[in-house]
Amino acid sequence: KEVILSVKNLKKHFVVGGGQVVQAVDGVTFDVYRGETLGLVGESGCGKSTIGRTLIRLYGVTDGSVEFKGKNVHELKGQELRAFNRQMQMIFQDPYASLNPRMTVMDIIAEGIDIHGLASGEERRKRVIELLKVVGLNEEHADRFPHEFSGGQRQRIGIARALAVEPEFIIADEPISALDVSIQAQVVNLMKKLQKEQGLTYLFIAHDLSMVKYISDRVGVMYLGNLVELAGSDELYENPLHPYTEALLSAVPIPDPKTAKTRERIILEGDVPSPINPPSGCRFRTRCPKAMEICAKEIPQWKEAQPNHFVACHLYNE
Ligand code: SF4
Ligand code: MG
Repeated sequence: KEVILSVKNLKKHFVVGGGQVVQAVDGVTFDVYRGETLGLVGESGCGKSTIGRTLIRLYGVTDGSVEFKGKNVHELKGQELRAFNRQMQMIFQDPYASLNPRMTVMDIIAEGIDIHGLASGEERRKRVIELLKVVGLNEEHADRFPHEFSGGQRQRIGIARALAVEPEFIIADEPISALDVSIQAQVVNLMKKLQKEQGLTYLFIAHDLSMVKYISDRVGVMYLGNLVELAGSDELYENPLHPYTEALLSAVPIPDPKTAKTRERIILEGDVPSPINPPSGCRFRTRCPKAMEICAKEIPQWKEAQPNHFVACHLYNE
């Protein structure tokens, strides 16, 4: 398996009013393999969108590094930076806000084609119409404006825009959260189909655990700026190691109660603490049903507790 993206000890802190520091992402390490979908889940505010935005250079890093195909993305310049800007694309959560309302669908989709000088005139139009067909729309849609489309159609336009520059890697930040449940599966199935056809790699950010399992090869779980567990999606859902993952999964309905193990619902006490003053040691300790003395004193190491199954929790120290 080829590692296409490698994130090492990534930290992203923001300074807010009064000079306080929000530790939005604090020491996250993971690899993404070419052609896979890595799901990233967690409650809102856990830092998953911040990771997505840092990977694609919308944010700089506070510490640590992001390597894409072996190169530190935050040090790219010139030709290599232009290539990166093509190879990595993003699909946004809100298909209502992410498309310029004054641009036609044609110009929205062709924006990257124009920026990178990939085609012009009749060839440009031809490419956009091909892309519309790829995402299940057609030529008649090209000269209309975003407000004339439904949410699901707009997300298809967003996907076509991302595909227009023939990317290798797509970050999808809650691409279906704003859509009706009946439309969500359509968009996810379209993404899966395109991945197969074009060999795309996805980072799929979401809070809906059942949809993430369906689309992802592997899933990472975030809590308060930390990645707490990462494993193959079947493995993670059947054999969660981290107490936070256990609690999250205990709230997911079991699709077939006859075959699946029954799970006891774990209700977590209290609220997620502030990323301005996170708890010492393990950040989950204030809510963890299994917290021990060491959990307040030492930050649990990120380690491969079982083959291809990573976790950060003192329960898994020898
Ligand atoms: Fe709970 Fe301690 Fe593990 Fe944190 S390190 S999840 S507090 S047992
Ligand atoms: Mg978000």
